[in-house]
Amino acid sequence: MSGPGFKKAGDNLFKIALLPGDGIGPEIVAEAVKVLQAVGKRYGHQMEFEEGLIGGAALDQGGEGLPRETLELCRQSDAVLMGAVGGPKWDHLPGSKRPEAALLGIRKGLGLFANLRPARVFPALTGASSLKREVVDGIDLVVVRELTGGIYFGQPKGREGDRAVDTMAYSIPEIERIARVAFELAMKRQGRVTSVDKANVLETSRLWREVVLRIKDEYPKVRLEHMYVDNCAMQLIRNPRQFDVILTGNMFGDILSDEAAMLTGSLGMLPSASLGEGTLGLYEPVHGSAPDITGKGTANPLATILSAAMLLRYSLDLEDEGAKVEWAVGTVLDQGYRTPDIAEEGCVPVGTKEMGDLIVRAIQS
Ligand code: NAD
Repeated sequence: MSGPGFKKAGDNLFKIALLPGDGIGPEIVAEAVKVLQAVGKRYGHQMEFEEGLIGGAALDQGGEGLPRETLELCRQSDAVLMGAVGGPKWDHLPGSKRPEAALLGIRKGLGLFANLRPARVFPALTGASSLKREVVDGIDLVVVRELTGGIYFGQPKGREGDRAVDTMAYSIPEIERIARVAFELAMKRQGRVTSVDKANVLETSRLWREVVLRIKDEYPKVRLEHMYVDNCAMQLIRNPRQFDVILTGNMFGDILSDEAAMLTGSLGMLPSASLGEGTLGLYEPVHGSAPDITGKGTANPLATILSAAMLLRYSLDLEDEGAKVEWAVGTVLDQGYRTPDIAEEGCVPVGTKEMGDLIVRAIQS
């Protein structure tokens, strides 16, 4: 791979920017690339990959955590696949200079305002959840979280004498665009949206409800219900199968997406997508750079491989191909293969590369 900037695109050429980052990032991204290449070969799509620097890897080259060339590379691509950033080597740096600051930068730089976090339980892994098997069996939901507004960004914000202030604010256009993401997604899934707010207390939530209700008219086939966030937190534990798409704001989504994800039991299995107005999206595992296992060849690549499945579906509009990757993951797990983080009695232990190879083989089958 040469410097930033892709070669001239042909008609059937998908350009994918790779940002492996730090720690286990390069190990797991390499496996996801193998999987994408196998998909390309099987279904006749040409895929071109170009690597960019981000996080500590970029800082070590003497630059910024998010170099301008990296952002440019992403903007010129159809989709971005990222590993993870950060690690002890850079922990002494002040907040704004740390590798993790690049994450906010890239989302902002690419105009990504919607974060999609699926929680799906693979039948072979129902035992990994801390909840009872009969509660988690068959969970298949997605949390759609607004990413760039709400209380994390509202002004005024700060300290004033003995007070501290954060402001929760949402505008109608901000709510409209995230609502459309959720309804569009529901159309491709089971056709149900649960909009989560705190409309009994918050004015921003009352506006949220009004706007979501209005946007629903554009999607007559989708069923919409509203739920208070405290109830939703409870329902996710009591009966998570009732949910298809959960639509919510920044802070509620931050909390609920972690809660929903943990229903499935393992950090090494959780993918995510961040989307903006167009089809360009950023896909990454939910977990971090796992410095404790870096270089050991034991990291679970499945969260990144499942992120690649989302990439196929949402940025490249390759629904069948995305489903095939998810099917391959389920099949390999059913066959008993496990990386150490999801190991259980009687399983066949494998490392990062073997797991990638097994998924590739399943795709070829
Ligand atoms: P982490 O997610 O990196 O690791 C937590 C635990 O889960 C560790 O024991 C790790 O070995 C394990 N783990 C994580 N991913 C795994 C995988 N694919 N396979 C097997 N085991 C896995 O969280 P942390 O230790 O709190 O953070 C480490 C670094 O990652 C920090 O610098 C943090 O800031 C950064 N981080 C980055 C991101 C990101 O890039 N999006 C997200 C979270 C944390």
